[in-house]
Amino acid sequence: MPALPEYLTRTLLENHGVPVVDGFFVRIGDNIPDELPELPIFLKAQIPGATSRKKHGLVRKVETKSEFNSNLDELLSPGDWGQADGVLAAKGLDLKAEYYAGCMLDFGSERQPPGGILLFSTEGGSGVEGRSGTLATIPFSLLNPPDSEDIAEEMAVIETLENPEKVAAFLKGLISTFIGYRLTVLEINPIGVIIDGSLIAVDCRAEFEKSAVKKSEKDLFFPPGLKSSGDLTPLEHVVELINIDDPAGTGFFRQNRETPPDGALRVATNLCGGGGKMLWEMTTGARTDIHTMNESDTSGGLSAFKSYRILRAILAQKGAQVLLLTGSGMAFQNQHHIAAAVWKALRESPTPLPSLLRFGGTDEDRARDLFERVSADLPVPVKTYPAEIFPNAMVDDIEAIAMDKPPHVQTPPSPEGEPAIQVETPPGDIYFYPEKWSSEEEPPSVSACPTGYLLWNNGKLEVNPEAKCIGCLMCETAALLEGNGEIRIDLKMPAEVD
Ligand code: SF4
Repeated sequence: MPALPEYLTRTLLENHGVPVVDGFFVRIGDNIPDELPELPIFLKAQIPGATSRKKHGLVRKVETKSEFNSNLDELLSPGDWGQADGVLAAKGLDLKAEYYAGCMLDFGSERQPPGGILLFSTEGGSGVEGRSGTLATIPFSLLNPPDSEDIAEEMAVIETLENPEKVAAFLKGLISTFIGYRLTVLEINPIGVIIDGSLIAVDCRAEFEKSAVKKSEKDLFFPPGLKSSGDLTPLEHVVELINIDDPAGTGFFRQNRETPPDGALRVATNLCGGGGKMLWEMTTGARTDIHTMNESDTSGGLSAFKSYRILRAILAQKGAQVLLLTGSGMAFQNQHHIAAAVWKALRESPTPLPSLLRFGGTDEDRARDLFERVSADLPVPVKTYPAEIFPNAMVDDIEAIAMDKPPHVQTPPSPEGEPAIQVETPPGDIYFYPEKWSSEEEPPSVSACPTGYLLWNNGKLEVNPEAKCIGCLMCETAALLEGNGEIRIDLKMPAEVD
């Protein structure tokens, strides 16, 4: 899902009465004011989707006018992280404490309607989820959001919290911004507690669905006249082509341009949805021993075909030692389909990575069962986690599973012959080998098709023109696990991933 940088997220918060640190935004070519506000000032490069900016030198404290000018020039020039939209100059503050708060969308399930989840911690920074007693997790209704009193009651789980009423009033503004602009993620990290006890948003970010932006709010989300441009790596270009071929759902991938610190564990990530990104950032944002190879977001109802293709790009990153996949733990995407995509990517990629996989949402048990059955035959170790395990437990396992030199393997040959079915959307070729299924009985690969697109008619494979292929990979998965490999699916990939 598209990300909104801090300078734009601030406006959304201010519009709902949430106080933000004083500051001004400088675009390329803007005139710098002759008189600066009181120094020191923090300069923050505004790059949509960029996280851990402090760690990457994109946030700088300046104490003098000349430091201001030179750092501003640098941050406005194209750098390792690409081209910034501009630079936010924000006033330095004396804070007596820093808190963390975030809202994310819970897509719900058959039993539970969609809603929001508010996370709040008195610890701020990263790794907040591991500190019991400082974290409150508050589900809320989007139609009937909690008032300040409700929130203050929920805050009782944090015994050390001073002024819960003040905090609750601040969080009410956060929830109101989240709902008012139909965001999928909204984070303030940190919330600064000023000496007089009042709260202020020091840094913030949001994610949203393009289709949820109202016409009247377009300029808030897509300000006209920005000069930022793409500087795509070959693998990012691959993902762009994948998105052009198969636009349904979100397939975001951006590589980290920084050189990994010596000794840091190099982690390729497949994060699903804004919640997955948020949890990963919370867990690793301040750690220098973990180097995130890429940002990613696969969500919004994308097919397993597309998940597979993006995973192939993620796995092709040179130097990666491990793959970590997680969502928020409550995805509406079928987790069994995602697991099928991961399994296919790990067995067909020439550069598979040891993998830590957390499945949460529909069919999460079937997703884990799949790996119970197939892990032993993969060239890399795989560990799966249920949704209730927070990603910090996965991070603790990275060192044990990471490989200094993950294997380069021979990939299985492409299917031979002509495809029996060419699916246009999502694009993929389905091959059927009748010699591998001579029985009149319907093969498991056909029975596994959830939409009825595949039909078995008197011992022959046919397509139901009334049904649709959703690119779930269930037919191929069943053919390999329950049948005789009678179906194979070929998902073409650009050469860069090999
Ligand atoms: S043919 Fe059926 S089972 Fe196979 S990918 Fe398409 S929808 Fe899924």
